[in-house]
Amino acid sequence: MQLSVQELIVGNACPPGRFLRPGAGWAPMSLPVRVFVLHHPQRGAFLWDTGYGPAFWRATQRFPARVLRWLIPPRLEPDQHLTRQLGQPLAGLGLSHFHPDHVGSLPDLAEVPTWVSKDEWERVNRLGSFQALRTAHLKPLYAHLKPLFFEDLPSRIWSGLELLGPGWDWFGDGSARVFKLPGHTHGQLGLWMERAEGPLLAVGDAYYLPEQLDGVRLPAPTRWIVEDARAYARTLERLAQLRQLHPALTLRACHEPGPAGSS
Ligand SMILES: [Zn+2]
Repeated sequence: MQLSVQELIVGNACPPGRFLRPGAGWAPMSLPVRVFVLHHPQRGAFLWDTGYGPAFWRATQRFPARVLRWLIPPRLEPDQHLTRQLGQPLAGLGLSHFHPDHVGSLPDLAEVPTWVSKDEWERVNRLGSFQALRTAHLKPLYAHLKPLFFEDLPSRIWSGLELLGPGWDWFGDGSARVFKLPGHTHGQLGLWMERAEGPLLAVGDAYYLPEQLDGVRLPAPTRWIVEDARAYARTLERLAQLRQLHPALTLRACHEPGPAGSS
């Protein structure tokens, strides 16, 4: 079974360039916040991540949460709102992890069945308020959630993708496979999508800029917010190997520059 996949840009994150590219200046670098709409011929439309949303601004109105707006200044133009861009009702959505630029529109989608990693869900809910803020987790964005868990779906090692480890079969037909890509957060997930034009792997925040796959190191302070530096480096290595093994594969990070559009 194959999906047609559409990328939407739901806001921008605008940190100083030097936070991402060694040697870049203080001028802000406008990075897209990308989500994926998966069109399954039988099951309908599913979403991977939700981008920024009005709830982020509500949740960061006051200090100390407001600090998150200063560290990585966010932008959300009116025509970027997810609810304006979605063309049809969603049958479900999945989350790579719980950072605000991935769950910012979640409160606007409260009725949509939502799949997450059980391990990551339990972990972020155990964070005390200081730890949550220090690791950029805003509980008001996901406090309402009654998630379904990828861990409850069948999982297996997929032929040709052995180096990713076991992957959950989201729709039961191999068209969408969910893998752990840890490091950026302890339990971050990636999504492999089967398409007619070749597979697409949404890697979340496993890297910000594709040059990291070629060994360019993330500068400070951005590398300090990586939750598990060793796992982050291993994940990058595995993705670089995967790119060699599968020339037809498109890797897509949430924030890498590049136009949105149907793919
Ligand atoms: Zn993140």
